[in-house]
Amino acid sequence: AKANGKNNFQFFNSELNRQLERKVAIEHGLRKALEENELSLYYQPKVDLHSGRIIGSEALLRWNHPEFGLISPNEFIPIAEETGDIAAIGDWVLQTACKQNRKWQKMGFPFLTIAVNVSARQFQQQDFLKKIHTGLQEIGYSPKLLELEITESIMQNIKESTEMLKSLKATGIKTAIDDFGTGYSSLFILKELPIDTIKIDKAFIDDIKEAGDYSMVRTIINMGLNLNLEVVAEGIEDEFQAEVLAKNQCNYGQGYLYSKPVQAHEFEQLLIEGLKK
Ligand code: C2E
Ligand code: CA
Ligand code: CA
Ligand code: CA
Repeated sequence: AKANGKNNFQFFNSELNRQLERKVAIEHGLRKALEENELSLYYQPKVDLHSGRIIGSEALLRWNHPEFGLISPNEFIPIAEETGDIAAIGDWVLQTACKQNRKWQKMGFPFLTIAVNVSARQFQQQDFLKKIHTGLQEIGYSPKLLELEITESIMQNIKESTEMLKSLKATGIKTAIDDFGTGYSSLFILKELPIDTIKIDKAFIDDIKEAGDYSMVRTIINMGLNLNLEVVAEGIEDEFQAEVLAKNQCNYGQGYLYSKPVQAHEFEQLLIEGLKK
């Protein structure tokens, strides 16, 4: 048993080492990822649940790492926040997503919206608003057709965040609370913050199944609608969920049922040909 214990320890040790090495490699790689064109955006359609039409998309970041292959944003965004690289990466994401969407708008989809994920650290930069504003002007992009997705973690700086949300609203840019219902302060957010949209977290959508209890989802939708917010469901994977959501007046949704996040040229096909289902 003793020898075994030692082996386990060695295994544990080398596994820890491997993880640490990977983290260090990611930290270093981040700095060059932008210059080396290793980052790209995928687009997931946002669908009107009643008509089944695409009304916009969410841009989702991908990193094709020279050594590790495709790395999930869940892994590298938190590291980019630690190192501060999120600032440059975030600027790139916003600019690339808006440029791309502007192209689609000009192709004959003038009201197509785009949603961009913004991390708390990025949102709290002093010059955030000014940078977006100049960026949009440069490409002639209407602020009304841009939505920023933020999470409840911005609540750590409630005063600054409220000011930022107010300024964004004044420019016409829309804001959404992402992963709604998973944080500590969901109700407080609804009451206090000038936001436009709540995105119900996938965990609540997963509850929607035949003979399942999905009273929570209905409650969230009703609260949102009563406060005149747009309500979006994320992570819709089957027909039943889509029907229940539509019946309960949740107007918009995203999920694998409609499409996974896809590359720009594939999204363009979806726009032109419509969704398969
Ligand atoms: P999120 O914003 O909550 O995005 C939803 C995630 O769920 C995405 O994962 C998406 O691909 C996935 N998803 C969509 N529909 C379904 C479905 O029907 N079933 C399942 N199982 N999953 C679905 P992804 O692309 O790996 O992104 C993970 C997270 O990384 C995002 O979560 C977001 O928090 C963050 N992220 C992605 N891109 C960016 C970015 O440009 N900037 C920042 N700051 N964060 C980003
Ligand atoms: Ca999101
Ligand atoms: Ca989400
Ligand atoms: Ca999420």
